[in-house]
Amino acid sequence: MRIIEIQGSSQPSTIRVGEAFANLPRHLPPGKAVVITDENVLRLYRDRMPALPVLSIGSGEAFKTLETVSDLYEALVDLEADRATFILGVGGGIVCDVAGFVAATYLRGLRFGFAATTLLAQVDASVGGKNGVNLEGYKNLVGTIRQPEFVICDPAFLETLPEAEVVNGMAEIVKHGLIADAGMFAFLEDHASAALRLEPAVVERLVAESVVIKAGVVGRDEVEAGERRKLNFGHTVGHALEKTGVFSHGEAVSIGMAFASRVSVRRGLLPEEAHRRILALLSRLKLPVRASVDPLRLVEALRRDKKRRANRIHFVLLEDIGRAVVQEIRMDELEGMAAEFPDILQTGPDP
Ligand code: ADP
Ligand code: ZN
Repeated sequence: MRIIEIQGSSQPSTIRVGEAFANLPRHLPPGKAVVITDENVLRLYRDRMPALPVLSIGSGEAFKTLETVSDLYEALVDLEADRATFILGVGGGIVCDVAGFVAATYLRGLRFGFAATTLLAQVDASVGGKNGVNLEGYKNLVGTIRQPEFVICDPAFLETLPEAEVVNGMAEIVKHGLIADAGMFAFLEDHASAALRLEPAVVERLVAESVVIKAGVVGRDEVEAGERRKLNFGHTVGHALEKTGVFSHGEAVSIGMAFASRVSVRRGLLPEEAHRRILALLSRLKLPVRASVDPLRLVEALRRDKKRRANRIHFVLLEDIGRAVVQEIRMDELEGMAAEFPDILQTGPDP
């Protein structure tokens, strides 16, 4: 097991990578606790849930809403949850986002922790303290920043993950290597197929290193003034692609990273050789590096990005594998590049 302590501004958070879910009782504080999970996780892991009241939400982005939050508040009232009640989120990123938001707001804030059951949640959602829900089609428009007291990342949960979910997590792992850790990127190059097979030792190392990278970035910048923007690598175009409805988050981010890598070469920041290594690794991990999308639709989605400020956006680029820089790019410049989108991405090797 690897234990990573994160010092958030509000409170510390302990991430336990490789800890068994069965050991959960060791980490729960004494007293009342309530589990928040989703229907799939409950179906798969009902037998392994702790002996606590369980609130289950629908699975998928469509349930990441204020309505779901409101239902959970009401259920907590029925359970007579009070200030001393501990909330345990057991699930993927959506459960963590919703459970974290409910815990952060109910009675002005309850203590909470997570057991992250997807690769994406283990490497991404459970670290950083961001939580929240979507509103009127805008992702994460409403939320708070608050760290869970602990996160348990049990690799045994990953055995039941659908392939698309593995892809989602893998994209985020590659992102962490690209923005902050050349050594981790090289490790992935050496162990790509073991990673895809989710070999526990390899996954444990990748998850732990991802958590350290993300925690480091978040620790230096909890409120997203500068450093934290680096975590958006691949995500500006990624989110736009995701909105077209054709790609999953992981696929969209992978294409977004390939795009940002290409832009980095174009701006004279990144050596061509490094760009080729990036495309090659993404392809070996079965992540897409190309998209044929109507550039107009993409630009439209980019414009709607809530992070867009005036005519420029902060765009994360690479100076090298393991070193990200944030530069401002004018919207029209980005639109121009988006118009070349398919060409840019089709310079990659065949997946
Ligand atoms: P994320 O990919 O952000 O973690 P979700 O929380 O929506 O997103 O989880 C993705 C999907 O995987 C959901 O349908 C969820 O019910 C399901 N899921 C979560 N954990 C597991 C697991 N260990 N095995 C199989 N399916 C899971
Ligand atoms: Zn992401």
